[in-house]
Amino acid sequence: MTQSAISIRGLEKTYANGKRALGGIDLEIPRGSIFGLLGPNGAGKSTMINILAGLVNKTAGKASIWGFDIDEHPRNAKVSIGIVPQEILFDAFFTPFETLELQAGLYGVPKAKRRTMEILKAVRLEDKAHTYSRTLSGGMKRRLLVAKALVHNPPVLVLDEPTAGVDIELRQQLWDYVRELHAGGTTVVLTTHYLEEAEALCDRIAIIDQGLVVANDDTRTLLATAQDKMLIVTFDSDVGTIPEGLGETVELRGTRSLAITYDKSKTQAGGILQKLGAAGLNVVDVSTQEADLEDVFLKLTRHAA
Ligand code: ADP
Ligand code: MG
Repeated sequence: MTQSAISIRGLEKTYANGKRALGGIDLEIPRGSIFGLLGPNGAGKSTMINILAGLVNKTAGKASIWGFDIDEHPRNAKVSIGIVPQEILFDAFFTPFETLELQAGLYGVPKAKRRTMEILKAVRLEDKAHTYSRTLSGGMKRRLLVAKALVHNPPVLVLDEPTAGVDIELRQQLWDYVRELHAGGTTVVLTTHYLEEAEALCDRIAIIDQGLVVANDDTRTLLATAQDKMLIVTFDSDVGTIPEGLGETVELRGTRSLAITYDKSKTQAGGILQKLGAAGLNVVDVSTQEADLEDVFLKLTRHAA
C-alpha cells in the first residue's frame, strides 16, 4: 500500500476571533511510521489534530485518514484514527473499565469484539480497572487516555503532546509503549515541542511554525542538515564590512565577533580564517560549535517577534 496514513492538502484554519492558526498545510504521513509534528507552542499542531479528530472545523483544504476523506467519509475517517488529546479530560466518576466500555459503545464496537482488559493490561492499568478514575495519578490518567484512544483498534494513533508536564519516568514508559504499538503495526503521530522526544522516537519529522510546514524529512536527514558547524571568530578591531562567501550564514556578534556557520563537508575552518586574514581582519580568538537539531529548529522557527 502506497497510500498515506494521513494526507493533508492546503489545510487552513482561521478561528472566529480572526486568528489564522493554519496557513495552508500540505503533509503526507506514511503508513507504518512514527511521525513527529514538532513545533513551538501556538504553531498550530493541536488545531491540525483537532481538525482530523472532527473537533474543529477547517476553513479550507482537504484531509484524509487511511484513504478516507474527512468530509466525504467522516465515519470511516473517524474509526481509522485514535486521538489522545493534549488536555486531560476524563470521566472522574467512571472506573477505567467503564470508561473503555463506554468508549467502545460510542464507536459501536460489539461486546464480543471488545478488548477492554487486554488494553488496560497493555497500558498497565489492569489492577486499577475497577477503581474510580479520579483516584488515579496524573500518569495513570494519561495512560487511560491512551487506552481510550485504542478501543476501536485504529490503524493510526495520534498523541498530542503526550509527555507535556509528565515526569521522566512516565515519559520513558510512554515512549516504550509507543514503540510497542508501532512494532505491532500501528502508525503513530506525535506532536511535541520537545526536540529530544521527536529525535528519540520518530523516523520522520515535520516542523510546523506559525501554521506552516517549514521542514519535513526523515529524522536522519534532518539531523544531517544539522551537520553545520559554527565558527565564532573575534578580531582585534571592529568588523567594518563582512567579507563575502565565508560560509552559509554570517552573523555579527557585538562589533568585533562573527558567527559563521558552514557545511563541514564543503568548507574547512582553515579556509575561512584565511579569507578573514586576506580581508585584513586580525583574529584574536576562535571557537567552534557543532550544530544540533535544536539549532536547525531554531533557525527554521526564528522570526521577528
Ligand atoms: P499548538 O498546539 O501548536 O501549541 P494550537 O493549535 O493550540 O497550537 O494554536 C495555534 C494558534 O491558534 C495559537 O495562536 C492559539 O492561540 C490559537 N487558537 C487555538 N485555539 C483557538 C480558539 N479556539 N480560538 C482562537 N484561537 C485559537
Ligand atoms: Mg497543542
